[in-house]
Amino acid sequence: MDFNFFNIKKNAEKFQSFFLDLIFPIECLGCGREGAWLCSACFKAINLKPEQYCLNCKKPNDFGQFCPPCRINYDLDGVWIAALYDDRLVARAIKSLKYYFVSSLAGDLSKLLISFVDTLLEQARIVRPELAAGLAWRSFRKIQGLPSALLNFKGNLIVPVPLSKKRLRWRGFNQAEILARTFVGHYGREMNGRDLVRLKHKKPQAKLSEAERLYNLKDCFVWRGADLGKRNIILIDDVVTTGATLNECAKVLKANGAGEVWGLVVAKG
Ligand SMILES: [Zn+2]
Ligand SMILES: [Zn+2]
Repeated sequence: MDFNFFNIKKNAEKFQSFFLDLIFPIECLGCGREGAWLCSACFKAINLKPEQYCLNCKKPNDFGQFCPPCRINYDLDGVWIAALYDDRLVARAIKSLKYYFVSSLAGDLSKLLISFVDTLLEQARIVRPELAAGLAWRSFRKIQGLPSALLNFKGNLIVPVPLSKKRLRWRGFNQAEILARTFVGHYGREMNGRDLVRLKHKKPQAKLSEAERLYNLKDCFVWRGADLGKRNIILIDDVVTTGATLNECAKVLKANGAGEVWGLVVAKG
């Protein structure tokens, strides 16, 4: 019964997307050219975020880590933000991915994550030799922020921020998981999209104050997997606002043995 219903639903979705393509041909969200949601010219014109900062106080730094005074309030080590949401095209692409499932957009947005992480890794590579060159005060200051998740990138476990079962059923897909899958495919890392479980979605976060957001998310996530044995985690999501969701995931992951936990998102909303 359930199975049949699923098939009918799936076929209806296929028919619907065929029908929508017929009346709304695929056009670039940037320039309107037909054929792709994000044409290669518009994709190339998107700027990666030039500077990372502490998400809490916005003080610029090299790796998006929380600075020491802000750290106290977070379990998350920091957040890597790939592009600027002020970029009209980035904002439109994220909204289109989330609300009108367009899988090719997930591919494009993952490409943004990938080129961004490549620059982070390059930066880490440049900073690393300074470790060996003796600790001049300047390099020491730099190295303090150098995440072990970047130094040992191969060791990371990639975890998409989950949706609750109910929300997943309603939306039909988890955009964070699609982003994570492409990311993992590119770097050949390991992904776990199963064991971090979101039990509930309460009121939409956007309507709440910052303090309410933290309370709102309390006990929303559980880790159902084995002990993480100090493994570093990269949590992937489409956007970050205050970081409350990422931080709640980090809290649960660290309670289950995770080492560093970093957020990686397309943009800050
Ligand atoms: Zn275009
Ligand atoms: Zn700070």
